Amino acid sequence: MLLHTIKEVQEQVKQWKKEGLSVGLVPTMGALHNGHLSLIKKSVEMCDRTVVSVFVNPIQFCPGEDLDKYPRTLEQDTKLCEQANVDIVFAPTPAQMYGENQMRTNDFLTYVIPPFFYVNKLCGKSRIGHFDGVCTVVNKLFNIVQPDFAFFGEKDAQQLAIIKKMVKDLNIPVEIISCPIVREESGLALSSRNKYLSQEDKIHALALSKILNNIKSCYKKGITNTSALKETAYGFLNEHHELEYLEFTDNTTLEPVESATDNTRVFIACKVGGVRLIDNIFLG
Ligand code: AMP
Repeated sequence: MLLHTIKEVQEQVKQWKKEGLSVGLVPTMGALHNGHLSLIKKSVEMCDRTVVSVFVNPIQFCPGEDLDKYPRTLEQDTKLCEQANVDIVFAPTPAQMYGENQMRTNDFLTYVIPPFFYVNKLCGKSRIGHFDGVCTVVNKLFNIVQPDFAFFGEKDAQQLAIIKKMVKDLNIPVEIISCPIVREESGLALSSRNKYLSQEDKIHALALSKILNNIKSCYKKGITNTSALKETAYGFLNEHHELEYLEFTDNTTLEPVESATDNTRVFIACKVGGVRLIDNIFLG
């Protein structure tokens, strides 16, 4: 069932709650691929009812980012959700979510601001305000859908850590379920933004997963010094890559680490053919 308004979703969820049914939420920006579908599958397995939100959230895009050209494929997304036994596809307009003042949200909207320590690093460094937008929309979706479980991908591991922190700090009654990264056979992590890559870019994009896998195998061989591990990346980079960061942090707190452990996650962001790609790996 495709619904566009908050009211319709709330009415349906109210009915489910009356019947004692558990509800899973999978927040997405659409252009669904197998990564999203793995989250959806997990929700359908675990919960009596599943809601997938498809919303390109304007307030999480920074000036100059790809808000206007972000792929929008609602018809295809709805079909995929139907095939996956999703109960509701919730596809609101920006005005439905933020009201008529949505073009001036900084002045008019109540925001949820995650802690500085979680956003002053990795993607938060270059995407100022991005995680404020993410936390605000996810909080709104939690309030609208009141899910028992919400499903997020490790593909966006900083986002996942920030949402877990928000849920804990604000006592939101939802259990966050993290789902592993789904990759192409080549190793490239699936992303809606891969649509922007040419065939040649896609080959250069493999450097990200190669760097992470190589770091993990060096770690497994006993190298724990993160500067030494970082050095191993340069062999995979050339003029086609614009490395933004390669960082080692604690998996839960995102605290930078100098010596890698089994609880370290390695994060990379790199532009290929002008497209900003992110990936990460857990060393444990
Ligand atoms: P997005 O539509 O990019 O906002 O992503 C919606 C959700 O799908 C987020 O929780 C992402 O982390 C997750 N996701 C995106 N790509 C993948 C992937 N390749 N593997 C697993 N989860 C993913």
